[in-house]
Amino acid sequence: MEKPQSKPLGELELIDRIRRGSNRARNPSVALGIGDDCAILRPAAGYEILVTTDFSLEGRHFRRDRHPPESVGHRCLARGLSDLAAMGATPLAAFLSLALPSAMLSRRRGLDWVDRFFAGLHHLGDLHNVPLAGGDTSESPSDLILADIVLIGSAPRGRSLRRSGARPGDALYVTGSLGGAAAELASLFTRRKPNPPVANLADHPHLFPEPRLAVGQTLLRRRIATAAIDVSDGISTDLTHLCQASKLRAEIDQTALPIHPLAKQLTPEQALKAALHGGEDYELLFAAPPAARVPRSVGGVPITRIGTLQRPGSKKPIITLAHPDGTRTAIQPGGWEHFSASRKTVR
Ligand SMILES: [Mg+2]
Repeated sequence: MEKPQSKPLGELELIDRIRRGSNRARNPSVALGIGDDCAILRPAAGYEILVTTDFSLEGRHFRRDRHPPESVGHRCLARGLSDLAAMGATPLAAFLSLALPSAMLSRRRGLDWVDRFFAGLHHLGDLHNVPLAGGDTSESPSDLILADIVLIGSAPRGRSLRRSGARPGDALYVTGSLGGAAAELASLFTRRKPNPPVANLADHPHLFPEPRLAVGQTLLRRRIATAAIDVSDGISTDLTHLCQASKLRAEIDQTALPIHPLAKQLTPEQALKAALHGGEDYELLFAAPPAARVPRSVGGVPITRIGTLQRPGSKKPIITLAHPDGTRTAIQPGGWEHFSASRKTVR
């Protein structure tokens, strides 16, 4: 077994910076945050704990030459928050393990990257009262940045929204709009020049997605949704997950799909593809009984009815798309793949 080594100077400075730059977010359920051997969480009586974990790996989930560090930090946290949102949970705390290339630990420019990464992570954490309550740092064994985040949330015991609760006849809804993240991602990779600085986060669905926590919590509190999932891999993939878990099939109305303005700048065919298969929109997709009172929006986030769920048929596809001309086609799961060196896509 390898002998445990004391942390190199660059790493100690990194830890010091993380502590000093620690976010202002306070959460009453975090009895003890960064600074001891463990954090202590104290969920309210009658609540249970939800846990989700996500890798953010350079070259797979982001590219240093395309994603501003603030975006990498934001997205690292946003992905886990979106999973909590999908289950109607309230986030309590985040834990981050971060491995940085040795060159970054010894150079000022590398630490600038770290400061900006945490600025992005803390900005989103502050918005949702999610303190960074602990973590670990290490020198990366390669020249790649590796981050692993754990998000802890809570929900009233037995009430979390799951993928499996939908019933035949339920209507299908989606929050916000679709295809924006895929459209922005495509533009990030086609531009030859460095990408311009970000002025308004809301205009950047790929770089700065907004997890739909308020919507998820409202769906849970008002007992509206029978099942829910977040759209991380594209609606075709995530709706398939929901249908399989609930043992149903879905029909989507093409004209009802809310297309993001950035996707509308593509050809109609590309826009539809981005809306159905583009990953990382981080919207919520949920089912509700036909008689449920589904609000048109929650906290300014629109909610759109896009289809229905039905009993499965032996020869019927899991997802059918009804076109404006009355024809129907089967939709296969086609969420975006993680990118590799040969395929310049990312998720
Ligand atoms: Mg998810």
